[in-house]
Amino acid sequence: MREFEPLMPENLEECLGMLARHGKDARVLAGGTDLFVLVKARMMTPRFIIPIGHINRLRATSHEYGTVTLGAGLTHSEIAQLDILKDIPCLREAARSVGSPQVRNAGTAGGNLANASPAADLYPALLALDARLEILRQGGKRTVGLDEFVRGPGMTALMPEEIIGSIVFSKPEGPFIAKHEKVGLRNALAVSVTSTAVVASAADGKFQDVRVACGAVAPTPIRMRKVERLLKGEAPSEELFEEAGALASSECDPITDIRATKQYRCRVTGVVVSRLLRQAAGDLLGYGDA
Ligand SMILES: Cc1cc2nc3c(=O)[nH]c(=O)nc-3n(C[C@H](O)[C@H](O)[C@H](O)COP(=O)(O)OP(=O)(O)OC[C@H]3O[C@@H](n4cnc5c(N)ncnc54)[C@H](O)[C@@H]3O)c2cc1C
Repeated sequence: MREFEPLMPENLEECLGMLARHGKDARVLAGGTDLFVLVKARMMTPRFIIPIGHINRLRATSHEYGTVTLGAGLTHSEIAQLDILKDIPCLREAARSVGSPQVRNAGTAGGNLANASPAADLYPALLALDARLEILRQGGKRTVGLDEFVRGPGMTALMPEEIIGSIVFSKPEGPFIAKHEKVGLRNALAVSVTSTAVVASAADGKFQDVRVACGAVAPTPIRMRKVERLLKGEAPSEELFEEAGALASSECDPITDIRATKQYRCRVTGVVVSRLLRQAAGDLLGYGDA
């Protein structure tokens, strides 16, 4: 016997109407790569499931006046190949680092963010890009910064009658770099031990706007605000990178689990933050050039 009832919306409006009526008892279904795992394990028991994968308005992309909009229904495979993200490799690489080709072909950005795992791989890149979410409900919408959206493991600011419509961010002005590094126990199909994204700009031989975000090192993915403040207006040096790495380690508050100890996660995050900043300084300021 089927334990949930599928509802089949023809379009976005119908989907939002269904959520308005049944939101507390319903879950939208995008790729199903998180939802069905939870339903099968009886960790989630929705009465209604509302498929949204066929709704084209949730898959639209645009790039206007430096502002990028990505539909929440885009899959990781699609994000990894988007031309408008060519100069934002951190996001394309983060999408490419998710699971396996099958998981990337089915799993979506909206599902990744709504599921709100501390290790969800799109979060660090999108946090470092200062992304905000356009959240839809019947007859209205609101915009929420991604750092306010995620509240705890599996917890978000989403109300039962709402869905994520799109992800929006502005490209930094002037020359910038956007780097990403995921550390896992193997190269594919690995949940992050830690993942880091750095988006940085520089001028006159100094870092300007630097944003550093990490996943799997705290109950939610986080921005490393102390590291960011340390770097602003500073010229690159080995001492600076060491200090930034140590500060990043101290900003981590991870758990020990089957993948890594708390101490390892803190240590390796510091190493990765130092490395990405050194690379950023090389690309932006010629740091390390002979
Ligand atoms: C084998 C395997 C490997 C994986 N590896 C990784 C990995 O390396 N990195 C990683 O980050 N994740 C990984 N995942 C987790 C998962 O694939 C991703 O989080 C994926 O992006 C989830 O998207 P989905 O479309 O499948 O979400 P679904 O399973 O369809 O939905 C997940 C949750 O989000 C909600 N939801 C979906 N879309 C929206 C929306 N637009 N608005 C509001 N709520 C929405 C659903 O109601 C549900 O509660 C893995 C999963 C599996 C099974």
